[in-house]
Amino acid sequence: MLGAGILGVSTAVQLLRGGASVTMVTEAHPASGASGRSLSWLNSGGVYPPEYHRLRLAGMDRYRTLLAQNPDLDWLRFDGGVYWDGDAPADRCEAQRDRGYDARLVPGSSLAGVVPGLDPEALPSEVLFNPGEGWVSLPHLIRHLLGEFAQRGGTLVTAAGPASVAVESGTAVGLRSEAGELYPADMVLVAAGAGTPGVLEGLGAQLQDESDLAMLVVTEPKAHNLKAVLNTPRVSVRPHPGSRLAMDSSWYVDQITPNDDGGWAVDPQVVLDLVDEASALLTGHPRLVAQSWRIGLKPVPGDGRPVMGELTGLPGCYVAFTHSGATLGLIAGELLAREILSGRRHPMLAPFRPERMAGDIPVQAGNPGSLIGL
Ligand SMILES: Cc1cc2nc3c(=O)[nH]c(=O)nc-3n(C[C@H](O)[C@H](O)[C@H](O)COP(=O)(O)OP(=O)(O)OC[C@H]3O[C@@H](n4cnc5c(N)ncnc54)[C@H](O)[C@@H]3O)c2cc1C
Repeated sequence: MLGAGILGVSTAVQLLRGGASVTMVTEAHPASGASGRSLSWLNSGGVYPPEYHRLRLAGMDRYRTLLAQNPDLDWLRFDGGVYWDGDAPADRCEAQRDRGYDARLVPGSSLAGVVPGLDPEALPSEVLFNPGEGWVSLPHLIRHLLGEFAQRGGTLVTAAGPASVAVESGTAVGLRSEAGELYPADMVLVAAGAGTPGVLEGLGAQLQDESDLAMLVVTEPKAHNLKAVLNTPRVSVRPHPGSRLAMDSSWYVDQITPNDDGGWAVDPQVVLDLVDEASALLTGHPRLVAQSWRIGLKPVPGDGRPVMGELTGLPGCYVAFTHSGATLGLIAGELLAREILSGRRHPMLAPFRPERMAGDIPVQAGNPGSLIGL
């Protein structure tokens, strides 16, 4: 397993449940990538192809099961989602209802009776309410899953630096840490988030990549009554454990600049403005203070759809790369582990196979052992 974000950890636990032995090798530490700074709105509210919608709904279903089994979790809730953009949300509502997605148009003035914690004066005349949506804090989920990972005897290798896939005679045979240590394996999963295209490039293959910068701000504890996830033109915000709020948006992305140390920076005023945008939506306009803001790449496949399954040109090497990794976190791990353990391709992953990108992958010279077809 290469990468201890939600996709790697979730698949690892499913493999262990299925009786496999698992070694997970990660560059720094668990949740050090996008999973450590994700808004993690659990939803299927956008316009998606039916197979993708189905996969996302299955993803939400697994979270509901997890919550039903652990009803006291403070890092996973299904208290609904509220959405509005610049336009009337009626079209989005209608399209969602056509797919059987629970969607209600609510006058902004009466939303407070449905969704607590919002200032009616800050709302537009009509908003979309999706009662079945939720949120998760991925670092908490990863910690939860890693408890089971350890109990079941999984091996976690942290601070491995940028690891790579070891290949012999055209087959993946394990992982190699930056220092050159080999971790042999019958099967390998590359779940390196935005680092995935780079790992595959090292094998001579190119994955269409639209990964983009994103920032998550988490506030200091502050009493609030917000329970739903809000998606609005200037800020998306959700509750966060410990009476905190987590939020992001996209209007400041072009103001993020690279650091000397290889990281990213943004003018602190942007963070203050984002927090103020959230405060303006909430009852009593609480004075919110940013406790942390984490910036980095958000993994996005070139065609916007998940990439999941075995590489046809490199037997034994699986890949998991998606920008909806929070919503899909549990289901992706379940389906990938089932494939890896049984050798049978899961029908729900058929539209998301890496080989759909085959036409765009130049076969490069010097490929270690085989031609890689994704
Ligand atoms: C601001 C933001 C908002 C988001 N909002 C949502 C949302 O509302 N809903 C939703 O469903 N999704 C959302 N996402 C996306 C979701 O969080 C990601 O898709 C998901 O966390 C990706 O998980 P991952 O396991 O694929 O990757 P990551 O969490 O990035 O984990 C990959 C791990 O691999 C490690 N790694 C990378 N390269 C190597 C290497 N060569 N060797 C060893 N280790 C390596 C990294 O250090 C990292 O720890 C959001 C993401 C961001 C950043």
